Amino acid sequence: MKQTIRRVKADKASDASDISNRALQAKLAELISVLTSLFNACVTHKYHSKQFKKTQTIVLRKSKKSDYINSKTYRLIALLDIMSKALKSIMIKRLSDIVETHRMLSNAQMKARRKRFVISTLDLLIDQVHTVWDCEIKYVIFMLSLDVVEAFNRVSHVRLLHTLKMKRTSSYIIKWTRSFLENRETSLIFDEQTSDIREINADISQRSLISSILFLFFNASLIEKCEALRIKIEVLDFINDINILVYDRFTEEICRTLSKAHDVCAKWARTHDATFASEKYELTHFTRKSKRFDMTTSIQIENSVIKSKSDVQILEMQLNMKLQWDAHLRQIETNHVTRMLTLSYLEVFTWEAIFTKARQVYSAVVRSEIAFEASIWHQRDKKDKLSSKERRLETLQNQTLRHVAEAFKRVSIETLETETYTSSLHVHLNMLQNKITLHSRVNDRTQKIRQACELIRARLTRVNRVISRLLVSKKIVLLNVFIQEDVKIQSRRRRRSFFFTISTSDSIAIAQYHKDQWNQRWEKYRERIADVNIISAQRLHLSNKTIKMRDDLQKAESTLAMHIRIERIDLNAYLHSRNVSGTNSSRCDCEWSHQTTKHVLMHCSNWSHLRSRMLQDADFSDYRIIVVITKSLRAVAKMMMKTKLLKQFRVTRTLIL
Ligand SMILES: [Zn+2]
Repeated sequence: MKQTIRRVKADKASDASDISNRALQAKLAELISVLTSLFNACVTHKYHSKQFKKTQTIVLRKSKKSDYINSKTYRLIALLDIMSKALKSIMIKRLSDIVETHRMLSNAQMKARRKRFVISTLDLLIDQVHTVWDCEIKYVIFMLSLDVVEAFNRVSHVRLLHTLKMKRTSSYIIKWTRSFLENRETSLIFDEQTSDIREINADISQRSLISSILFLFFNASLIEKCEALRIKIEVLDFINDINILVYDRFTEEICRTLSKAHDVCAKWARTHDATFASEKYELTHFTRKSKRFDMTTSIQIENSVIKSKSDVQILEMQLNMKLQWDAHLRQIETNHVTRMLTLSYLEVFTWEAIFTKARQVYSAVVRSEIAFEASIWHQRDKKDKLSSKERRLETLQNQTLRHVAEAFKRVSIETLETETYTSSLHVHLNMLQNKITLHSRVNDRTQKIRQACELIRARLTRVNRVISRLLVSKKIVLLNVFIQEDVKIQSRRRRRSFFFTISTSDSIAIAQYHKDQWNQRWEKYRERIADVNIISAQRLHLSNKTIKMRDDLQKAESTLAMHIRIERIDLNAYLHSRNVSGTNSSRCDCEWSHQTTKHVLMHCSNWSHLRSRMLQDADFSDYRIIVVITKSLRAVAKMMMKTKLLKQFRVTRTLIL
């Protein structure tokens, strides 16, 4: 119970009761016994409290829609009672335990399963396609994607409870689920107006994990029926998105098989009160040799003809027929422009937004998008060289970093990474991949993918009487390459006596390992810089202190503090060195030969009247110390603004001083 409540983020939005998880966490010691009794009572009596089933639903317009007449142009965000979330988390854990221990669901049902990343799903698809391709006889693969209409809202409760019973789930779970699904109520919040409370049919939130797991039970029989067809067919279930993979030497045969599989799906839909959105059906082909097969094939399903496409979007990732990533890279680059605009918008309209927040948005939104799927094709290179694909992504990351830090182009990227405490994309991808590899070992993900591929290989061998070459797909070979690195991590863990579970100890070990990699990169870079050219930002070893020192500064102060530390600032010494037009000399107005940051702040006779106050506020008089302490940085930033030497901060001064 304690773990569950502590795991939820402290400031997640809550419902009208306005009890935040932070409050619950703060008073957990006093509340734990009451909550335990309450939740035990709910489970014992197989009852989900009516209070827990009341939600508030915020209705937001989706962007870039031509009109907002259709309800699908709105996004719904359900705000739940914080205690109901805790109880749901406990039930999710129990359900997941049962599912995995008793192997109740098919391996093809990948999403919402414990310790299965989205990447696992993509890996499975990619490896299955590669296995078929690697056979001596050349096959073409077609994939039919079916979308279940309003999957979560229209689940037949009777069918779902029946399936749970058929799967021999404990009766208390079945009865609690019935209570959980019944009599749900919500009020809609739209444009700051709140509607009356209405009854709804389901726990609508598509992102609710419990809904997803229950839906996996609901459509389990469909997957089993498709798998039972025993023809050259594989199924991938992404909850409301069923993908049927069929491979053969002849496209006509594939069309026949797909029709047969669709008949099975249609029959299931009729008996389960579900509907497939036929207008959203998609047919995609995967082949290395597009000229060998008839790629213009289309299939007739019910009354519609579906033409085959060469690109497909799977789990927000764009793939082309050769499983190359160009389309995906283009997609990232296009989305990146929008993300940058959003970031700028956020910064302009939240003047008080401090640097830390901008960095947080960058890590959570921009980098996660750049890096997430990239970790699938990311190739580890011991020489620390980037592939051309990675270089394209690295450029995006660097652009955003410069934007977040508002730094000039002349600042080296190594300095910027350290100053913003953001590792290079290469190190970050290595870290992601190591985490995935380690998790795979523990939860036998690799083994499951291997089994699935072996099955295809065996089937093809049997059917065609051709011994397929033992070509393990590229991904699996890659995983083996990691072993060496992995051993280093394991030994590091032993040395540090980590005895936690995989989720904590391994994450710490991996993070530490990659921090070391980054540190090496930083120290190598520092060695290359001559002592005379070293700037304040390059004097420190790699540490998160570099961002912590600017944590409490306002955005303008923080930006200015960074400019002072990286010594790329609009003063004559720098401008003259860069041959900026209109700057004829590096001289200061006081006739000193170099107008540098240090000169203005510490020695210039023109600013002695501001200096005494600055030194008083800064508490230190040594410049090297001043530029590494929050309080002193604020003092020097304020002094620099008061001098009005920097054009871009003249307005700022009047706003925040
Ligand atoms: Zn001067």
